[in-house]
Amino acid sequence: MSDATLDANYDVAVVGGGAAGLMAALAARGATGDDGLARPVPAGAPRTVVLDASPKIGLKILASGGGRCNVTNEHVDERDFETDAPHLLRGYLAAFDVDAVRVFFESRECPLYAESLGKLFPRTDDAAHVLRTLLHACVDAGVEIRHPFDVEAIERPAGAEGPFHLRGAGGASVVARRVIVATGGKSLPKTGSRGFGFGYAAALGHDVVPPLPALAPVLFAPDSPLAGLSGVTHPVAFSLVHAGTTLEQAAGSKLRPLARAAGSCVFTHAGASGPSALDVSGPAGRALFEREPVELRADVWSLTTDDGPFAAYLDDPKPPGCSLSPNDSPRPPTFEAFVAGARSHAFAGHQQLGNALAKRIPKSVVEALLKSVDVEAARPAKTATALDWKRVHQALTWCDAKLVGVDGYGKAEVTSGGVPLSELKRGTLESKIAAGVFFCGETANVTGRLGGFNFQWAWASGYSAGRGVAASLA
Ligand SMILES: Cc1cc2nc3c(=O)[nH]c(=O)nc-3n(C[C@H](O)[C@H](O)[C@H](O)COP(=O)(O)OP(=O)(O)OC[C@H]3O[C@@H](n4cnc5c(N)ncnc54)[C@H](O)[C@@H]3O)c2cc1C
Repeated sequence: MSDATLDANYDVAVVGGGAAGLMAALAARGATGDDGLARPVPAGAPRTVVLDASPKIGLKILASGGGRCNVTNEHVDERDFETDAPHLLRGYLAAFDVDAVRVFFESRECPLYAESLGKLFPRTDDAAHVLRTLLHACVDAGVEIRHPFDVEAIERPAGAEGPFHLRGAGGASVVARRVIVATGGKSLPKTGSRGFGFGYAAALGHDVVPPLPALAPVLFAPDSPLAGLSGVTHPVAFSLVHAGTTLEQAAGSKLRPLARAAGSCVFTHAGASGPSALDVSGPAGRALFEREPVELRADVWSLTTDDGPFAAYLDDPKPPGCSLSPNDSPRPPTFEAFVAGARSHAFAGHQQLGNALAKRIPKSVVEALLKSVDVEAARPAKTATALDWKRVHQALTWCDAKLVGVDGYGKAEVTSGGVPLSELKRGTLESKIAAGVFFCGETANVTGRLGGFNFQWAWASGYSAGRGVAASLA
């Protein structure tokens, strides 16, 4: 439907027809239960409209997962997200959980399958199938969808009890008793995400956590030991730590890094991309934004061990598309453990140190890192001194990547920051400041790691906002 100039009255206007907005509209109509199954829309269900600025609905869903849409993940909990209120997040994730999402799609003829590390995709490997499923469900549920309808202002002329007037470009307007703001973040702006919800929330008086690009490549200084490795793929465990944190502290069991991500990484001309780099980018960007003295340390060794947490994926022709869970991400090894491991199989005979290490790590990476600590790659491994081994340990497991930034919204998959969960009513995501206004999806301060977690948040938060809006109208 594209009749954007008609004035009309609704019970609920959902601003933004992405994953969160479409799920919110379905939940507002009572068309899905918390088990994911379709429900007959009850008589008197709220009259609901979705307004989307884009001429084509669901562009981000179509672009997601490389066109395959990683719908969710088999294992999701609050540790997979950055937020101001993990205890509140747990409740939302439970209200519409992974099983509900699976049932939602599978019972509507969009079966899913799991890839390594739990990523769930439609069996057709086609994001359009996911979008079609949502849009068909909306049609069945009597949700109206109007687009392009670019909401420029949301006003409440009759005061706190009156209906909302949503004004669109070109004089279009809609009147609604409740508003769900599901306008997404600022990432990939060509899909329509421009951060409208953040500005609106701030104008209402919310203390919006400043939006920043996340799940974006990290950028290193030109003199980083990892510069010049562009195109090399290798599993890396990144740790974001306070500046000056030593390897000995990190290898000890007490230190908790500010963030850690362990998984495949691809070095770029400016830094690093791939799951582990993207996963650490949100906290890294936030720390830099807040001018905290931090360092990004790279461990190129721990994920290559035959008995380590990444061993199952080392021989895969295609590296897993997400990182290990935070629980499985290893800390760097102690010196003793490193030397025992490094010496165990590779150092028989008269091999050169670089060649021996290159059995586990690409030679270009070994050479760059040994050079950074002044250890000669060509020297026989057997002649390496204890000091050499100390340096090799440091270089391979605690390399200072010389972080200087995080790439921008054009490259970022998500936007971190948004309306704090603590400023939204528990369970319904209604603003504690402006009654009748609900926030969901990326407008709220919840950012998942790579692997289907951001869509899981979109479904779960959309569901809670939709049920919350329906309850407030009942
Ligand atoms: C390239 C890419 C790949 C991704 N792949 C995955 C993946 O595989 N798995 C995963 O979990 N996550 C993935 N993500 C992240 C995921 O897509 C988002 O977290 C999720 O789509 C957010 O949903 P949302 O509904 O909050 O916002 P969005 O999907 O951004 O939807 C917001 C909608 O609001 C509309 N809008 C904005 N402002 C206005 C306005 N003023 N008036 C009217 N309409 C407006 C926009 O047009 C848009 O349609 C990916 C992101 C990108 C960029």
